[in-house]
Amino acid sequence: MGVLRHGATMEEHKIPGSLARIIFNSVEEQIGEHGLNMFLTKAGLEAYIDNLPPDDDTPTLPMDKFKRAIGLVIDLFGEKAARPLLLRWGRLTFTYALENKPTLFGLAGVMTKFMSDEGKIRFILKRVLKESEKLYNVPHILTENDAYFQIEIQNCFYCGDLTSQNCLCWPPVGFWEKMMEWISQQHHEVKEIECMAQGAVSCKFIISKKPLSPE
Ligand SMILES: [Zn+2]
Repeated sequence: MGVLRHGATMEEHKIPGSLARIIFNSVEEQIGEHGLNMFLTKAGLEAYIDNLPPDDDTPTLPMDKFKRAIGLVIDLFGEKAARPLLLRWGRLTFTYALENKPTLFGLAGVMTKFMSDEGKIRFILKRVLKESEKLYNVPHILTENDAYFQIEIQNCFYCGDLTSQNCLCWPPVGFWEKMMEWISQQHHEVKEIECMAQGAVSCKFIISKKPLSPE
């Protein structure tokens, strides 16, 4: 039970307690403990009231509940207020990964030492996307042209079954912004260009190869 096997459906896949905690904590920061409890109740996650999931890799939150929780953040706060919250959540997730996945990033630092910035970004992005596929059990496809890396997330869960005129998947944008700062010490344009919330077949993101010019 709860073990990920080949052919496991998205409903059976569970994300680690550490990631669930980051989003719960972000919600609590924004609306306090009572707000968080209301949020958990609405998301069908009452079991976590006063009982946060373990701060480690233990598979904890089923994907469908995770997806509903993210959708609920957007529903509850509105797109305008949910955006900074979810961007921040994405950035915190990167910081967490940096501290807790030394094999993913520490080693990459050594191995990419003599690469160009673009080579470095490509190398690290490939590893990160492979890790994300494992973590969330949905395809993350990397392509590129001269100016941008493009990432397609199929069966994207960040938009949480919502409908909007806008792109709604901010957590990975925050994550990749922070990752790009870590790699190049500069800001790069990171944005979602097509979202399932808008009716697209998958969610697509771009990351500029060149840093933004300093303001
Ligand atoms: Zn999206």
